[in-house]
Formats: sequence, structure tokens, C-alpha cells
Amino acid sequence: MLEKTSKLDMKYLCRTCNTKCDNIPEHIIKVHKFSKSLVESQLKAKKDCYDSSFEIIE
Ligand SMILES: [Zn+2]
Repeated sequence: MLEKTSKLDMKYLCRTCNTKCDNIPEHIIKVHKFSKSLVESQLKAKKDCYDSSFEIIE
């Protein structure tokens, strides 16, 4: 059965590129070529700063 992902793993749909991911910072860094340090500092300043760009999916 499909039990690969634990319940702790949230899934997100990126509104920008319409791609699913389970790690927002990683997605932004890998797919949208943001620098890791920029993403980390933005998340530090505002933990949910990317939430509006992603939709939570099951
Ligand atoms: Zn994206």
C-alpha cells in the first residue's frame, strides 16, 4: 500500500510552478533558484513567509 510517507510529511502545491513538494524551503532553493542563505534568513524573519505561495494538499 501507499505507506511511504508518514503523516508528519505535509504536502504542498507550489502556486508558482504548480508542482508538488513536501519541503517548501528545499523546493524554493532547488526549483526557483533562491539561495539557501536568503531562504533561511527569510524563514527566520517570518516562519510562514512562503505559506501564501503554497497550497497544502493531502
Ligand atoms: Zn515552485
